[in-house]
Amino acid sequence: PSAVANRKDKADRATTEQVLDPRTRLILYKMIGRGVIFEVNGCISTGKEANVYHALSPEQAHIALKIYKTSILVFKDRDRYVTGEHRFRRGYAKHNPRKMVRLWAEKEMRNLKRLTEANVRCPEPIEVRENVLVMQFLSETEGWPAPRLKDANVPSELLPSLYAELLITVRTLYHVCRLVHADLSEYNILFHRSHLYMIDVSQSVEHDHPHALEFLRTDLTNVDEWFKKRGVQTLGLRKSFDFVVSSDESLELEKLALEKTLENWLSENPRSTPVFNESGDNSSSRTDSGVDHAQEDAVFRSSYIPRTLNEVVDPERDAEILRRGEGKSLIYDGVIGVAARPIKEVHEVETPKVGVERIV
Ligand code: ADP
Ligand code: MG
Repeated sequence: PSAVANRKDKADRATTEQVLDPRTRLILYKMIGRGVIFEVNGCISTGKEANVYHALSPEQAHIALKIYKTSILVFKDRDRYVTGEHRFRRGYAKHNPRKMVRLWAEKEMRNLKRLTEANVRCPEPIEVRENVLVMQFLSETEGWPAPRLKDANVPSELLPSLYAELLITVRTLYHVCRLVHADLSEYNILFHRSHLYMIDVSQSVEHDHPHALEFLRTDLTNVDEWFKKRGVQTLGLRKSFDFVVSSDESLELEKLALEKTLENWLSENPRSTPVFNESGDNSSSRTDSGVDHAQEDAVFRSSYIPRTLNEVVDPERDAEILRRGEGKSLIYDGVIGVAARPIKEVHEVETPKVGVERIV
């Protein structure tokens, strides 16, 4: 069969997989016309919200096409990410699925750009047209996608440094890109050329999004658990959270300085477990003194979490605010006296419904 017929055949096959409605197909044909892509190959992932295809550029470069599905139903649980986003403030076309997925695709493009600009490892974004996002295809061997961290065969001796790399990445994401991934786990990290690459950032939120710090906590829980299970001596949830959000000026955003800090923090860790234990199961070598920060982390996991960093409970500052008679602006207004208590108890206070905007 001719190349053209062959290509048409592939497009038709893709269409029958139901993502490619006529309009999406038209977008792809236009991309072919403009020389962005040469042909669309197989589907490498079918997800709830999008499918990912392998494509080739006219120069035979490997390309990934993330094609958002235009059916509305699967998008309803996205409300949580959208609420509080400036650009979605005026409703986000809930009634118009095409418009909605377009916003998600554009958001992923924008976020990938921010990551790229901050030198965070991720697929390089190429372009977005409606529900089709074109990006670099991360490939270990010719045309085969790099494995997800979940499926990757990571050499055990690499694990501790990958853990450090990932925490530094999350911190860079937070302070430089001003984003929280919000769906970070071994499913959305690719292992490529011995490093970790962030993917799937369409739901990532601004660092001052009303739920940003909750999302961050979940992200870091996933990271901590994954590495801990594989024998890495992790910081624990609370400390890794502090590491990421700390605005300590001395924590320069230089990779080396951060690695140093992380090293120090890790060496302060009371546990005497080896950094990595070959079997990947370090349960037997755990000491009592370092029960994995389990208790501390359990408290933290169930704690009220401030909605922005400016809300972080700072007794001195808050006492000053109270003294000025401006206590109304504090998150724990109405439960005066809480300020000096541990954060756990602040948790018992319901999160205010209407935005406590920034205090300072
Ligand atoms: P979903 O919203 O469906 O989770 P993802 O962005 O996580 O979408 O992509 C789904 C899968 O497609 C990933 O787990 C990964 O295996 C593959 N994938 C996505 N982007 C790329 C890429 N740029 N290069 C290689 N594989 C990719
Ligand atoms: Mg994903």
